[in-house]
Amino acid sequence: DGVHITPDMIDELATKSFPLCMRQLNDTLRTTHHLRHGGRLTYGLFLKAAGLSLEDALYFWRSHFTKNMDIDKFEKQYAYNVRYNYGKEGKRTDYTPYSCMKIIMMSIGPGDAHGCPFKITDHTILRQRLTSFNVSQQAINEIMDLVSKNHYQVACQRYWEATHNSTLDAGINHPNQYFEESFKILN
Ligand code: SF4
Repeated sequence: DGVHITPDMIDELATKSFPLCMRQLNDTLRTTHHLRHGGRLTYGLFLKAAGLSLEDALYFWRSHFTKNMDIDKFEKQYAYNVRYNYGKEGKRTDYTPYSCMKIIMMSIGPGDAHGCPFKITDHTILRQRLTSFNVSQQAINEIMDLVSKNHYQVACQRYWEATHNSTLDAGINHPNQYFEESFKILN
């Protein structure tokens, strides 16, 4: 692999190179300074696999969460989770990031920001969001057609292609695959 990312790169990468599921988690983190458990796990493991070191991950989560809570609370309640994702706590397993299938199957509760947006976002809102990201109307129509047939990963592939002016040989089956294909082209 060899890709390493740092906290200062994340907002720009989220816009250009993260799949919609991860962009949504980053947006929620930026606007609410918090993510619920499923989102912390999904996004934390994604960032780890994208090459964010444990030290940088602690810095990243701390800098967001302490906009809303004091540092003691962060250290007591959340730093453990970050280290846990890196296999430094609990069973010390080196947890693997979630695949699309796993994210698509996750149950979503009120206030959750995780999950596959192609599956769970209201169609009118998804269309508006894609328009605000400057995706062409033709590509949006194709994406929404795939979404309405429940082909979420193919919709994601089409979204990747529309936003990179390029094509992919294989479909999207993992958010980190999406990111790596993007990083190759844009960096
Ligand atoms: Fe994320 Fe996969 Fe859904 Fe794309 S298809 S938004 S990578 S879960």
